[in-house]
Amino acid sequence: MKGIVWFRSDLRIDDNPALTAALSSCDEVLAIYIFSQSQWELHNESNIKQEFIFNNLTQLKDSLAKLNIPLIAINTDSYKTLPQDLSSFAADQKIDHVFCNNEFGFNETVRDQNSIEFLRKNNIQFSSFNDQVIYEPGFLKTGQGKPFSVFTPFKRRWVENFDINFLELAKPLKQKKAPSIQSDLSVLKFVKTHSTNIDLWPAGESVALDKLANFLHLKAQYYSESRNSPILDGTSRISPYLALGILSPKRCILEALKLNNFELTSGNKGICMWINEIVWREFYRNIMHSFPKVSQNQPFQDYTKSIQWRHSGKEFEAFYAGKTGFPIVDAGIRQMLSEGWMHNRLRMVVAMFFTKNMLHDWRLGEKFFMQHLIDGDFSSNNGGWQWSSSTGTDSAPYFRIFNPITQSQNFDPNGEFIKKFIPELKDVSIAQIHQPKDDLFSSTNYPAPILNLKESRLRAIQAFKDAREESGI
Ligand SMILES: Cc1cc2nc3c(=O)[nH]c(=O)nc-3n(C[C@H](O)[C@H](O)[C@H](O)COP(=O)(O)OP(=O)(O)OC[C@H]3O[C@@H](n4cnc5c(N)ncnc54)[C@H](O)[C@@H]3O)c2cc1C
Repeated sequence: MKGIVWFRSDLRIDDNPALTAALSSCDEVLAIYIFSQSQWELHNESNIKQEFIFNNLTQLKDSLAKLNIPLIAINTDSYKTLPQDLSSFAADQKIDHVFCNNEFGFNETVRDQNSIEFLRKNNIQFSSFNDQVIYEPGFLKTGQGKPFSVFTPFKRRWVENFDINFLELAKPLKQKKAPSIQSDLSVLKFVKTHSTNIDLWPAGESVALDKLANFLHLKAQYYSESRNSPILDGTSRISPYLALGILSPKRCILEALKLNNFELTSGNKGICMWINEIVWREFYRNIMHSFPKVSQNQPFQDYTKSIQWRHSGKEFEAFYAGKTGFPIVDAGIRQMLSEGWMHNRLRMVVAMFFTKNMLHDWRLGEKFFMQHLIDGDFSSNNGGWQWSSSTGTDSAPYFRIFNPITQSQNFDPNGEFIKKFIPELKDVSIAQIHQPKDDLFSSTNYPAPILNLKESRLRAIQAFKDAREESGI
């Protein structure tokens, strides 16, 4: 039997169930990656993420070559043309079976259903596996048999049902004989438009596994104390590797548990809290699967459809450039613009400032993040934006609005992070750094605040109240 492994968000050999299944049931296996520039643009994939994908595909090609598996990139126009292109390639290569790991987005699900139809016409089988989650999305249900929409009970059920055997990793096998077809990534064309520092993100599985090991051995035990301090760099920074599937979440949880006597909820607080974050990731994948409306530009909370979002071109411009006049917000945005990554605490502060104080539509902020993050991940990004804007599942209540000045004082007390990303403020005293005094704006290039915090907070609460009233809540 001849098989194809269709690589998508799983650019790795380690713990790759589709790859293992193909190698254990087929005599001959090819690997493919289907590339569509226009689909990437449609999904707002950032230019730095695109480069990171290409770099990782080159590494994957070399790793697969050691297993005697060629990797061939195929170009297609969009998800609409993909099923036809996939099945033509498979038929030409006389393939019997296509193997892949699941993706849960709405467009991806439709793409896969159409692919199955096309393949079936050519008598080609299709099998998919779960590699991004411990439980198949939708498997864990509330007492009423409904999908979970709140994290805490989801996590409780996740832990109650957990069995260490779930962490059995798929083992990489070697193909006995190399197929006659050669690896070919020549259709991958990358045009660099970003000026972000990609050197911060070396490609490849071994780098990702090293990053994971370093974090777990050196930082994880302090995670509960250091995770909220952007200057401490106390988090793992593995999100870009998880987003592309260069690391598997199972591998992450397993390695973390090894350092905690295989205890999920007791033992080292930092490790337990870190695993909790990986479960948040799984939670948002469940939301995307069980509530497809969130993949279709809709808020989870229906009443928030009638919120009257503001639209100020001037404020947009200031925000996008990290020039709002609120140092912690601007430092977060500038970190993303220079590193392609932003600390989690700042993602929340920035997103809340955009959707509450500025009262701008969360979808525009969600898009801005996707267009600049190297770890852009639809479900986590959508979940994070809908959480911050109080339009989502298990969201921050609409009236609880972060004050960026207080957040700054609490999480960057000495202003070190601000000074790192806002050179204009490097000589400003700690007393002034969180909220520069008016006369500072004329003496530095740093802009004056674009809005009044108190007034904008009240305006946001009123907008939510109006929307609730309109919906009879
Ligand atoms: C507005 C907003 C947008 C976000 N956009 C993205 C995004 O596009 N891609 C993305 O991977 N994460 C996103 N997050 C979640 C989180 O900010 C990042 O996962 C985290 O900052 C990555 O850094 P790390 O790898 O050092 O995380 P760590 O703290 O080391 O956590 C380990 C892993 O757990 C997962 N994780 C951590 N926090 C969360 C969370 N709140 N929600 C879901 N998963 C989480 C990530 O995969 C992360 O790599 C967003 C959060 C917010 C508030």
